[in-house]
Amino acid sequence: MNLARRCLACGILFQPRPQIPSQQYCCNPTCQRERRRRWQREHVRNDPDYRENQARAQAGWRARNPDYWRRYRAAHPAYVERNRSAQRARNVYRRAAPVAKMDASNASNPIVTGFYVLRRALSTGVAKMNACLVHIAVLSCPDEERYPIAKR
Ligand SMILES: [Zn+2]
Repeated sequence: MNLARRCLACGILFQPRPQIPSQQYCCNPTCQRERRRRWQREHVRNDPDYRENQARAQAGWRARNPDYWRRYRAAHPAYVERNRSAQRARNVYRRAAPVAKMDASNASNPIVTGFYVLRRALSTGVAKMNACLVHIAVLSCPDEERYPIAKR
């Protein structure tokens, strides 16, 4: 009998099946889905043949189901709106310069509602992985007389 080991997905101790001595995930369906998801992600990342085969299979499916996404979008307006919002955010990110610039014409209201790229000031250049996309909604603006903005 094999020793119990910890599932790589849920962390719970499980008994590997005798037929699968190297089993690393328990038999919980959620963990098995996670195992397959990780396997696929790993192969898409590292196996050009697998990636090409996946792309071909997906292109074939799209050719056989040309209306699928149009119908899906028509039936799921919230999905459409979420995608639009995310695309607007990506567009903002794409336009963002590596270093934030002060907008002199907007000095009386330095922050406007919108999507912003949040990045540590110490990082240099465009570092996609080190940036967060945030949405800032301005709820009130500082009173200019009480909070005079320093002239630069
Ligand atoms: Zn598990």
